[in-house]
Amino acid sequence: MSLDSISHRALSVIPGGVNSGQRRVPGLEQLVITATRGATFTDSRGDTYTDYHAAFGPPLLGHNDPDVDAAVAEAAAHIDLMGVGVTQAEVELAEDLAALIPSVEKVLLTSTGSEATFHALRVSRAATGRRLVVKFQGCYHGWHDSVSMNVISAPERVGRVDPISTGILPEVLDATLVLPFNDSGAVRRAFAEHGADIAAVIVEPVQHNVGCVLPVDGFLQVLRDETTRAGAVLIFDEVITGFRHALGGWQSICGVTPDLTTVGKAIANGYPIAAIGGRADLMDTFSSAPGRPVFFAGTYNGHPAMVAAARACLRKLRNEPVHEHVFALGEQIRSGLEEVFSEAGVPASVAGYGSVFVAYFMDGPAPQTYTDLLRNDAAMFLGYRRALMRHRIFELPLNLKRSHVSYAHTAAHVDELLMASRAALREAIE
Ligand code: PLP
Repeated sequence: MSLDSISHRALSVIPGGVNSGQRRVPGLEQLVITATRGATFTDSRGDTYTDYHAAFGPPLLGHNDPDVDAAVAEAAAHIDLMGVGVTQAEVELAEDLAALIPSVEKVLLTSTGSEATFHALRVSRAATGRRLVVKFQGCYHGWHDSVSMNVISAPERVGRVDPISTGILPEVLDATLVLPFNDSGAVRRAFAEHGADIAAVIVEPVQHNVGCVLPVDGFLQVLRDETTRAGAVLIFDEVITGFRHALGGWQSICGVTPDLTTVGKAIANGYPIAAIGGRADLMDTFSSAPGRPVFFAGTYNGHPAMVAAARACLRKLRNEPVHEHVFALGEQIRSGLEEVFSEAGVPASVAGYGSVFVAYFMDGPAPQTYTDLLRNDAAMFLGYRRALMRHRIFELPLNLKRSHVSYAHTAAHVDELLMASRAALREAIE
């Protein structure tokens, strides 16, 4: 049976043929991945692509990093899951995270970012005894009910509750207030009206689930001030920004310290491990709250092989010039793309930070709000990325998705990308 028929077999046994909603990409129904290596992946047709999608962000070091893989193999050779007690490596990883991330005094490990944000909200509600959670239009925090709304919303659905799934109880949707990102006035008004009922504000400090929308000066500080004044918990969801932009996360760049932080993705270069950390008094309610502790569990939490992956990844991020390398390439890509688009006379706004880049097909400066993003020409965005695939460059052809460079990308990859983007742009316009 040919590998191509795998996608057909997939459809008969896997709903939609893929194991995550975001992998259902129009035009890529036949895509079967057979290998990954460094900055590339290969599909069942034998085509090798330079990968800028990077699995939505984890492999900051590049696919199959030999040091991380070796640490996993070594751990797996002598210890696996016990489900009781603790290991020295878990303690050392927690110590590392507490030393690196300003807000983190204590840490709990999960397997995924969604679990981390779920627990961040549960503990916030438990600690404050309040009901409401504030999230922002365009932010994604995982698949669980409290935050499953208003990520990429159609224009007519902006400004009201827009669930990303059916099956969520209306009372859960009602317990989330959705506000516009970068709108300090809206935050102040929400606190003036509902402050006494707000348990937590959760935010991606840089909005990466709609590409790259940077926080405007003062916005994150307003979140800090309003939550502090109202006695609510401020949660920075650094599942994307953590380790990718700085070892201490965005909070170490912007100087605003939240109460709780969630991290995942680049922590272990693609192995499934994530964490929630923060103020010791809040984190301690997981083990001893007045009355009853906040329940926290997970069969695979702190899996020795995943902990080994995270420790090896953090070691490499600390000891090698990973950030210097990816930041330099990211800068070359962004300025190169600006040139390509302006030479072609195509209105584009090239946004990004560090290793992240995205070209929106719209006039004007970098977007600051979700409303700005509605000006992006989605058809061009997708047409351009599909054309890039014909040149064996892979940026996920889904509207508003960001791209990433890794430590395995080189200046030659950047040249190749810029050349391909010139050609892809011509093809997309035709
Ligand atoms: N938070 C952010 C900012 C994310 O981008 C994601 C996933 O993309 C999550 C949380 C959920 O993480 P996971 O997919 O590991 O559950």
